Amino acid sequence: MSPGLDPFLPALTLPPWLCLNCGFWQRRSAPPPDCPLCLDARHVPPPTGFELIGAEQAEQRFPTRWAELEPGVWRFWNQPAPGIGPSGYVLQTTAGNVAFDGPAVWDARALDQLRSLGGLAVIAGSHPHAYGAIHALQDAFPSAELALHPADLRWSAAVRVTWPWDEELEVLPGITLWLTGGHFAGHTVLHDSERALLLCGDALKFELDSHDPRRALAVSAHKAFVRGIPLTRGELRRYRAVFAQLDFSRTWSPFEYPSNVGRDEALALIDRFLAGRPSADPVDLADLVPELQR
Ligand SMILES: [Zn+2]
Ligand SMILES: [Zn+2]
Repeated sequence: MSPGLDPFLPALTLPPWLCLNCGFWQRRSAPPPDCPLCLDARHVPPPTGFELIGAEQAEQRFPTRWAELEPGVWRFWNQPAPGIGPSGYVLQTTAGNVAFDGPAVWDARALDQLRSLGGLAVIAGSHPHAYGAIHALQDAFPSAELALHPADLRWSAAVRVTWPWDEELEVLPGITLWLTGGHFAGHTVLHDSERALLLCGDALKFELDSHDPRRALAVSAHKAFVRGIPLTRGELRRYRAVFAQLDFSRTWSPFEYPSNVGRDEALALIDRFLAGRPSADPVDLADLVPELQR
């Protein structure tokens, strides 16, 4: 009888190391010299050299905060935050809770808060820039499904994907993951049909009103924000095909959670790019859809 997986499972108990430049975690026997996500063209290496720290130090330096943004919709973040500082969102449903994306550190208090909310049935993420400490969620909630898209498996070596999927996957009633590709090959968005909410990962990025952080003034879409690389027409058409079939009135990235951008605004941006040449520059919402943003 083959030993099966058993000889390999200790890889998932190797200590995790956090890159302070981007927030990505690697499991290795000793601190790695660098970070593959920073060296990818969609991020930048640190100008003064890599610094990777262990989980205990990360938890001491970067406490987790949380807030309920809407009934049953929770945001978790680190303050202060290492790296690019993504938020994670946890959606409560009567069939169980789903976590999508995450902060670089889920500290013990935050995990207790998740337990008090009923734990997690499903863990998912848009793409590796926003996975955060996804391994900590899997360690804390070992019975939760981990539904990452297999096109980004090379970035998920710190965890064990339990529920790979193709074009779309309804992970809980009314909660569906959709493959958009584009920014990353496995880039995923989460749609909550009952709340008409789209968690869009880095498919869209918002410039916020400095007086009202829930109000976006401009929106952009990009292959690589840090280098201003636009998406291709084919990638934009794929984003459009996904957005067009979903009903949503709010669209939140891991970095912004405005209340004034829904499907009409998202499609208007993509149609603007498809009518001309795709750009990574932000477009003013008032210019894009003036009738909607008065
Ligand atoms: Zn990094
Ligand atoms: Zn990204």
